Amino acid sequence: MLLPVIFYYHRLNCYSFNALAGAIDASPELSGLKIDIALNAARLRACASERVRRHGRAVVAFSVLTCQLKRTGSIIQELRSDLGSNVVIIAGGAHATACPEDLLEMGADCVIRGEAELAFPKLLGSIMQGDWIRGSITGEPVDIEAFASFSPGRGMFGPIEITRGCAFACSYCQTSHIFGTRLRHRSVDTIVRQAETLRSINRKVVRLLSPNAFSYGSSDGRVLNLDAVRELLHGLRTRLGPSARIIFAHFPSEVRPEHVTPDTLDLLKEFADNDEIVIGAQSGSRRMLDACRRSHDVKSVLNAVVTARRYGYKIIVDFIFGLPDETEADLKETFSLMDEVVGRGARIHPHIFAPLPQTAFADREPGRLSPEVNSALNRIRSRGGLYENKSRTGDQM
Ligand code: SF4
Repeated sequence: MLLPVIFYYHRLNCYSFNALAGAIDASPELSGLKIDIALNAARLRACASERVRRHGRAVVAFSVLTCQLKRTGSIIQELRSDLGSNVVIIAGGAHATACPEDLLEMGADCVIRGEAELAFPKLLGSIMQGDWIRGSITGEPVDIEAFASFSPGRGMFGPIEITRGCAFACSYCQTSHIFGTRLRHRSVDTIVRQAETLRSINRKVVRLLSPNAFSYGSSDGRVLNLDAVRELLHGLRTRLGPSARIIFAHFPSEVRPEHVTPDTLDLLKEFADNDEIVIGAQSGSRRMLDACRRSHDVKSVLNAVVTARRYGYKIIVDFIFGLPDETEADLKETFSLMDEVVGRGARIHPHIFAPLPQTAFADREPGRLSPEVNSALNRIRSRGGLYENKSRTGDQM
C-alpha cells in the first residue's frame, strides 16, 4: 500500500535525512517508496495535507536538536490540528534520543532513539502493514559499512561520513552519548565508492564528515593512525583524479588541536584541496578545558595555529562562551588566547554554551553573551578576526 513519507529537511538535520534516505534505498521492502522533502513548515503542512487528501494518510519525519525543540512542538501541533490521526509523526535525532518523552508529549507518534538506519525503515514497514504502536523505539548502533551517507537516486547529497562515535565525551557535547565512545570507521573502499557516485553525477566537491577528522582509522581516537588517513586520502585522490575537490578537516568536521602536526598537515597538503581548517579550542582557560574534559591544554591550541599557519592554512578556531562556572579570570585567559591566535592569522568562531541532555553539563544554565564577551568579540571583529556564523553548541552536530 502506498505510504507517502515527508522529511522536514532543515539545514541543521539534512545530513541525517540524507543517511535515512540511503537506508531506505538499502531496504528491499521499501523500494519505490516516495519521499517528499519539505524545506520549511509552510511547505511541510501543505505537502502533508495534499498527501493525506490523495492517499488518506502520510508519515512526517523530524530530526530534532535541542535548539529546535520548541519550534518542532509548534509544527507538530499545527499538523495535528490540520490532519488529526491521518498523519503519523516520527521523531528522531539528538534530542529525541536523549528525551523521547518530550517529543511524545508534544504529539509525536513514534520516537526513534539512537541510530535510525535500521529502525526507521523497519518502522515504515510496520506502518505500511498497520502493525505499529505509539511510543519510543531504540535504534541499535549500526554497521556503517552497510549504508550510504546519502541517496543518489533521490537527489539527496551531502558529506560522506567517514567515522561515527567519539572517544572524548566532552562535557557539553552529545556525540559520544548518541554514537558511543568507540569509533566506527567506514572502509576506504566504501568511502571511495560513495565519492565516485558523487563524481559520476558531476559533483565536484567531496566533503568528508567526522567528529574529529584526523582520527580516521584510529582505534581509540587519541593515537592517530596516519597510515589509514594516508590510505583514505590517497585512495580518494587516485580514484577521483585531480579535478575533484576533496575537503577534509573543515566544516562540517573539525580537528582537535593536538592532532594538528606536521605529519597530519603533510597529508592534508598532499591530497586535500581546502586551504582552511577548523580547530576546536573552546576555551583559553586550563580550568575550563579540564571542566569540559577536553583532554588537551591551551598550549596545544597555539601550537596547532602556529603549525597550520606555517603550512599556509587559513584557520577557524571554535570557542564556547558562557560555560558553567566560567569566571572573569577564565574569560581573561580566553580573550588572551583569542588575541594571540588572531594575531597569527586565525579567525574566531564564537558559540554560546547551551546545556544539552545526557551531557555532563545537562543541568547547567545556558550561557549568555556578557558585555565583556561582546566587547572582546567586537575588538576581534574590528581586526577582521571573527568568523560570523554564531551558533549555540547544540548546532554543532
Ligand atoms: S566536542 Fe568534539 S572531541 Fe569533544 S566529544 Fe564532541 S565530537 Fe568529540
